[in-house]
Amino acid sequence: MIEFKNVVKTYDNGTTAVADLSFVAPTGKITVLVGPSGCGKTTTLRMVNRLIEQTSGAILLGGEDNAKTDTIRMRRNIGYVIQNAGLFPHQTVLDNVCAVPYLNKSDKRASRERALDLLELVGIDRSYASRYPWQLSGGQQQRIGVARALAADPPYMLMDEPFSAVDPIVRKQLQAEFLKIQADLAKTIVMVTHDIDEALKLGDQIVVLKEGGVLAQIGTPAEILASPADQFVADFLGESRGYHALSFEPIVGLEPHRTPAIRLGELLTGQAGDWVVACDDSGLPIGWAEADGEPLLAEDVVVATAVSRSRGNYRELLDAALASPVGRAIMIDDGAYAGTLGSDAVIRGAVEKLDAGRMP
Ligand code: ADP
Ligand code: MG
Repeated sequence: MIEFKNVVKTYDNGTTAVADLSFVAPTGKITVLVGPSGCGKTTTLRMVNRLIEQTSGAILLGGEDNAKTDTIRMRRNIGYVIQNAGLFPHQTVLDNVCAVPYLNKSDKRASRERALDLLELVGIDRSYASRYPWQLSGGQQQRIGVARALAADPPYMLMDEPFSAVDPIVRKQLQAEFLKIQADLAKTIVMVTHDIDEALKLGDQIVVLKEGGVLAQIGTPAEILASPADQFVADFLGESRGYHALSFEPIVGLEPHRTPAIRLGELLTGQAGDWVVACDDSGLPIGWAEADGEPLLAEDVVVATAVSRSRGNYRELLDAALASPVGRAIMIDDGAYAGTLGSDAVIRGAVEKLDAGRMP
């Protein structure tokens, strides 16, 4: 885990780039720092591996203060990926990937073998190993940048706008491949992007920054979508083209779960603490109630402020899931109860749509 404790960075010219920032990037998860240009994202990232020294506060890696750790040893544990990959132009693909292992004086043969495996992992054919960066496309270079960061098998990864410089189709592929790789490797990752759609897609946790490096909100994508902390976050979410586009995406391929539903006056059976769908006398769902073995009274009902038509659109489904007191959307079909869907499944589906919305 990476922990920021009251970190401040004021540059020599008086610019405060990061103001009193505290958050934890949990082990094995992707934390995305997102916000408009100039809000201090790169500064925040570069303080982790001490390319920039903070003015005050502390950054802990696995509980160890990084200012008190030997810099070389510390950086060995951190892979670093930047926009445009930052490959050495005069070195071959293989030597680029091996750069850190060579610095670490690892066995050359073993390093090369591992580099070839890594190229495969990031989707680059081994035959490219002897080429030079300029002979490759932007997307290929970015993949090699990721392979290079993984070469020393570091527990931590810092990624600064890693997918920003490639076209939308390649970007989508890289994001998908990156999530697949991360599912296996479970690195502790802090990634920077200015693109809210990318943050929603890749982040286990999102840290929203605003101008002056002020923390605006921290939470899961679902938490941030459900309740933006302030107008700034709401406006920033509003920039998500995909989120608006969800209104035009019909719900397909999601199978609602037949969560038990009862009408007013019927017995609230089931395990104590289970939530059931509460319906009015006509069978129309109105909210949720907790099983207690007693008849369902109107005052037991936690009203659902939004429900979704099962043949409606993703936007209403997402709103129903996010507004739900139990984290599940209630779905209706021709006015009758049709089942429920958990917000995890809804968000996963919605993010796929968000992503597809970015296709040109
Ligand atoms: P972001 O990555 O979010 O675009 P940065 O961390 O690069 O933001 O920059 C945050 C702020 O700090 C900006 O106002 C930028 O102009 C300023 N800044 C960045 N680097 C320096 C520097 N070396 N000296 C002075 N100001 C800087
Ligand atoms: Mg930046």
